[in-house]
Amino acid sequence: MEKKQFKAESKRLLDIVINSIYTHREIFLRELISNASDAIDKIYYKSLSDSTLTFNKEDYFIKITQDKESKTLTISDTGIGMTKEELEENLGTIAKSGSLKFKEENQIKDGYDIIGQFGVGFYSAFLVADKVTVITKAFGSDKAYRWESEGVEGYSIEDATKDSYGTDIILHLKENTEDENFDEYLNEYRIKSLIKKYSDFIRYPIKLDVTKSKLKEGSESDYEEYKEEETVNSMVPIWRRNKSELTDEDYNNFYMEKRFGFDKPLKHIHISVDGMVSYNSILYIPENLPFNYYTKDYEKGLELYSNGVLIMEKCGDLLPDYFGFVKGIVDSQDLSLNISRELLQHDRQLKRIAKNINNKIKNELENMLKNDRESYDKFYKTFGRQLKFGVYEEFGANKETLQDLIMFYSSKEKKMVTLGEYVERMPEEQKYIYYAVGDSNERIEKLPQTELVKDKGYEILYFTEEIDEFAIKMLMNYKEKEFKSVSSGDLGIEADEKDEAITEENKGLFESMKEALSGKVKAVKVSKRLKNHPVCLSSEGELSIEMEKVLNSMPNNEGVKADKVLEINPNHEVFNSLKETFENDKEKFDLYTNLLYNQALLVEGLSVEDPVEFANNICKLMK
Ligand code: ADP
Ligand code: MG
Repeated sequence: MEKKQFKAESKRLLDIVINSIYTHREIFLRELISNASDAIDKIYYKSLSDSTLTFNKEDYFIKITQDKESKTLTISDTGIGMTKEELEENLGTIAKSGSLKFKEENQIKDGYDIIGQFGVGFYSAFLVADKVTVITKAFGSDKAYRWESEGVEGYSIEDATKDSYGTDIILHLKENTEDENFDEYLNEYRIKSLIKKYSDFIRYPIKLDVTKSKLKEGSESDYEEYKEEETVNSMVPIWRRNKSELTDEDYNNFYMEKRFGFDKPLKHIHISVDGMVSYNSILYIPENLPFNYYTKDYEKGLELYSNGVLIMEKCGDLLPDYFGFVKGIVDSQDLSLNISRELLQHDRQLKRIAKNINNKIKNELENMLKNDRESYDKFYKTFGRQLKFGVYEEFGANKETLQDLIMFYSSKEKKMVTLGEYVERMPEEQKYIYYAVGDSNERIEKLPQTELVKDKGYEILYFTEEIDEFAIKMLMNYKEKEFKSVSSGDLGIEADEKDEAITEENKGLFESMKEALSGKVKAVKVSKRLKNHPVCLSSEGELSIEMEKVLNSMPNNEGVKADKVLEINPNHEVFNSLKETFENDKEKFDLYTNLLYNQALLVEGLSVEDPVEFANNICKLMK
């Protein structure tokens, strides 16, 4: 038996392959199965051009055999096999890919199914085996060979016997170490799940003997185990099937099989793109929020396949954060992979796919909004917050994409409406898109600040989530209409001349009120927005009272303060009492002023600064 050395460079290369290319040992199975599939594909391609050759589908399969006794795992195929020369060339030279050559020679341009290209995958066998035996018989030849290697030291080739064409790769598994258990590959369940994980969509059946149990003959309670050959992989990926053949149930089943969620998907999107970059994809919008969505455990991303072989379980770059809830898979033959068949960073094709997918999701949501409002409402209830975060993030870079998808509760419609719907029905003279902020719709409904705007017949959007006002500040305007809080200083509604007169008349009173509040408010003013309530707070400047609340609820806040204005309703009888005390009873005037200010805070949903003093003050009045 002749013993051959790997070429010098090959020795080092092999060392690199075994020790540093692959991050996970378990991928050896993916690589060997991919090779087996390629070997069968080659016969298939030959049959296309050779009329004497018929390709009977049943004859072509991959078989995995586990032998606990000899501690071997065998991957057999009925593919094209290798001649002695090919064994030398392909397995004796690292980084030599017979498959790549085959593709070139046969001018298989898209090479859709042939997976091999780098010529290193085979050696990943040494990640789990200390000896690899290959027994192979090339298609059409009557001679079989045995190739054997224990790693870097070299390999041997000798004659062998083998009945049928094809190749057996026999892995003599390494001894277990303290940290590593190689026996796990003798476990049926483990191998089955590895096949499912990486090679589920290999076109040919991958067979495995699985243990089953049945009632012993003649017995009613004694079971016995027996082995039965099973095809483990699903073979045809659902995303390569024709949309018209697929039912909702098929899509839902795939969602469940993939464990994308325990719910049913709300919507699926099936994409097949041929062009600058070709890919197939199935995306799902889940019905429910993944249970860990708002924890750091949640990782967004899509499963990424290259020619039906899993490359990455969660490719985060395929989804923007605001669509981070979307689940699904992408399969493309156009990805640039590195030698370990991981994705190259900053891959241009991947960027294109990501952009494309982003648009598809957006369009699908817009469609849903237009044609199936009920589903959209459901979707928005669950994921709307995410979209609003999307508007806010990255300094508003995505606002164009998202502005038509966000909704708020409307004072008029008593349901969620889009900004488009709001602007559509705005009366001509209305300058702004009005909104009010509060903890709940019920509370906002009662906010004194909304009185005038409502009275004018204008619609108000209710902002009940912390992100709302921040998102809208980022948006700035929609269809050239600016947003305006009902609590902001200038409401854009014509002032009453009467108000100006009252302001003039009561200058001293307002000044004294401001003094009595010692710096808590920037000004005290006649209110234009109150009808039935005596007082309310409004703010001047960019920072609203609601934003102050949010910012100060965060850890290490800097105690920011909105510029508050106390507004008084001159038509309320309390105003008369104030005037009276202002003239006759300074102490009571201060007391009233403080009470009114605190009352405004409470209505706003803020806490009074000194509750004990507030309570005492009320008691004082009761005496
Ligand atoms: P790649 O698959 O990227 O070409 P590998 O290192 O996995 O690289 O395999 C090297 C070459 O060995 C393949 O291109 C193929 O020509 C040959 N080969 C490997 N496994 C088999 C097999 N089961 N049947 C036939 N040829 C094989
Ligand atoms: Mg390979």
